[in-house]
Amino acid sequence: MPTHTTAVILPVTRAQAVQYMILFVNRRAYLRQSHYPSKKSGRFYFYKVCDRVSKQPLSIDAATVQSHLAGHLTIGVYAINPDSQCSKWIAIDADYADSRRDLLRLQEAFRKDGIESLIEQSRRGGHLWIFLAEPLPAKLCRLYVLNVARRLGIAIKQNKEDGIEVFPRQDELQPDEFGNAIRGPLGVHRASMERYWFEDAEPTLEVQLQLLCQVKRVTREELETLTAGMSPIPAPVPAMPWVQLPAAGSQNHGFHILSYIRTHRRSGKNYVGQCPSCAQRGEDRRGTHLSISVAEPRMYHCWAGCTKEMIRSALGCPIPSSVRFAQSA
Ligand SMILES: [Zn+2]
Repeated sequence: MPTHTTAVILPVTRAQAVQYMILFVNRRAYLRQSHYPSKKSGRFYFYKVCDRVSKQPLSIDAATVQSHLAGHLTIGVYAINPDSQCSKWIAIDADYADSRRDLLRLQEAFRKDGIESLIEQSRRGGHLWIFLAEPLPAKLCRLYVLNVARRLGIAIKQNKEDGIEVFPRQDELQPDEFGNAIRGPLGVHRASMERYWFEDAEPTLEVQLQLLCQVKRVTREELETLTAGMSPIPAPVPAMPWVQLPAAGSQNHGFHILSYIRTHRRSGKNYVGQCPSCAQRGEDRRGTHLSISVAEPRMYHCWAGCTKEMIRSALGCPIPSSVRFAQSA
């Protein structure tokens, strides 16, 4: 239920936008949160901003960040730059009933390791942020946080169960992958039209950015020392990208297979799941027939030979005859 119907617009300088980019932007591709809820789920999804003709991701710039901070639009930022496999920050997202308690426990454990972290409020819980002195390997970021969480007995989210989500959510990305993104802090959440501020600082852009620029950053040496001897924790592959919708204005926007299929596993560049059409015939009990491209979820394929038409009708949303031919191209 929206708290406000319109966003409160704040004055923002270009210098503030540049400061924000230094803090949060680690690759040029970015997302925007839809201004309208999805008809199906009522959620305000994020979509990757792409050129309408070439379909290539557009680059974020200071003007876009300025609009985000002002409240005209809301961006999502990717954690990992695939060129370096590094992230500039770690964010821990927790949105279940007792999540604040877990974030505070993590914050305390980090403090004991000499790591400062900041809690940003969110619509349902909070995001705990750690800032890095330079972009550092996503793999080490995850190794550290997942080990601390395990030591504290804090659950990592898998599918629909409660638990924290750690961004970066992948150890590494393929060159054509984007990984997961998180709502850019200090902007307006389109669902509630609220801004969620970092705690322990006055809720103005000026003071908040000052806090973010002053917080102690984790150095490479510190992260390497802390993670030495830690063993990798097999964390579940995200069931689906946090956001994956086609660019605004693109054709063919009605159907998203990832809204229907629970994908538990990933194999190479694809998610693997149960083919709904095979399942209807009592086949594919192990849930391995369907492959969905991670980079382009509109591309999916049943290894047992079910057609797109069969899969769509098994899901209860058959392909309308007018687009059937266009789609098979
Ligand atoms: Zn099938």
